[in-house]
Amino acid sequence: MIEIRGHHLLCAVTFVGRGYSRRFERDYRRVIARMNDNEEMVIVGGPDAICASVKDCAGSHCHEERIVARDRAALAAISALTGRMLTVGSRIMPHDVFTARHRAAFRDGTIRAACADCQWSDLCDRIAADGFQTTLLDRR
Ligand code: SF4
Repeated sequence: MIEIRGHHLLCAVTFVGRGYSRRFERDYRRVIARMNDNEEMVIVGGPDAICASVKDCAGSHCHEERIVARDRAALAAISALTGRMLTVGSRIMPHDVFTARHRAAFRDGTIRAACADCQWSDLCDRIAADGFQTTLLDRR
């Protein structure tokens, strides 16, 4: 079971395997591989499988309220898109979430209110505009 926080349902579709520390990249790649294998996910309310290697580091933002608010915004937007209410404790299959519709909504901004104050937003904009061609999560 993959523990995943709300806004990482957005971030996962733009991860290209770099841009973070080596350890973080390695762990992130492992989570993406598990998603590609369609391992079940459970929504958590704080640090998740992607955060695992950095959540206790000095300066980590994993526990900050603004990041938890980002989770809430992402879950609200994805719930509205899919018609399925996603909250902490919800269980979902990666292949049911990371669809062409999800990517289209990411690209047109429909589900990206959570990204408003994120330092990576321009990078994610470019990755989406390029059709997610370089990302590691399988495109379905
Ligand atoms: S802009 Fe930030 S929060 Fe949004 S998908 Fe990219 S990395 Fe994640």
